[in-house]
Amino acid sequence: MTRLFVLGSGSRGNCCALEHEGSVLLIDAGFSAREIGRRAAAVGLALDGLVGIALTHEHGDHARGAARLAAQTNVPLLTALGTWDRLHRLRGRLRHVPLPLLQEVVLGPFTVRAGPTCHDAAEPVALVVRTAEGAALGVAYDLGRATAATRYLLRDLTAIVIEANHDDFMLRTSSYPPVVQQRIAGSAGHLSNRAAAELLAELHHPGLAVVVLAHLSERCNTAADARGTVEPALKRAGFRGALYVAEQDAPLPAIELRPGPAQLALAL
Ligand SMILES: [Zn+2]
Ligand SMILES: [Zn+2]
Repeated sequence: MTRLFVLGSGSRGNCCALEHEGSVLLIDAGFSAREIGRRAAAVGLALDGLVGIALTHEHGDHARGAARLAAQTNVPLLTALGTWDRLHRLRGRLRHVPLPLLQEVVLGPFTVRAGPTCHDAAEPVALVVRTAEGAALGVAYDLGRATAATRYLLRDLTAIVIEANHDDFMLRTSSYPPVVQQRIAGSAGHLSNRAAAELLAELHHPGLAVVVLAHLSERCNTAADARGTVEPALKRAGFRGALYVAEQDAPLPAIELRPGPAQLALAL
């Protein structure tokens, strides 16, 4: 059985985990190590099965607790080389598994693939993690815009955790100065609800069972707005799965991933 745990998401921290038969891979560690432990315990995720921590990029809301947690648990960090370079103070103290772009890296029961994204970080990536039974999770935050490479990486997924950062109107009428608004909406910034809806409609296929909207702006979005924009677009595309909205301050209950028809066919 494969389970997805979304421990929290937003501009103050992002962390989720994939658990397969007791092995756990964290994807981003944007809370303190102690807070990640507290949230994991609250939803029944046993971190003593941790095999690694994969990072999308080095920004604090994605990497804050990574070094301490990796040191405490003696597991490697999986990052793009540019991200590892930016985390240079950790070199020599922590184990590192490089994630070459679009190549498969195997760690325990997980196969991890990274694809480049547009964002103002050293070498930001979206990640896809597959398990032996055929479940495939995509995690894509901090997408200024979804490039062809991102769309290619995120095809044929069982579940996706994807940024729905802001509502365009709320951003335009927010108290952010114009230069900040432009940065957020720009090609190195964050994906709007509308852009997330369009991307998800394009990525939809019969095996897509779980969608989690994540990294919502506290000032320029609400869970109702994100869901209200994405849900109709997904339904029009034929989505019959479960749609969740991640919260900043509390984890979601465990989500079981059952490979759909497309994934089962691939796994046989
Ligand atoms: Zn970032
Ligand atoms: Zn972020």
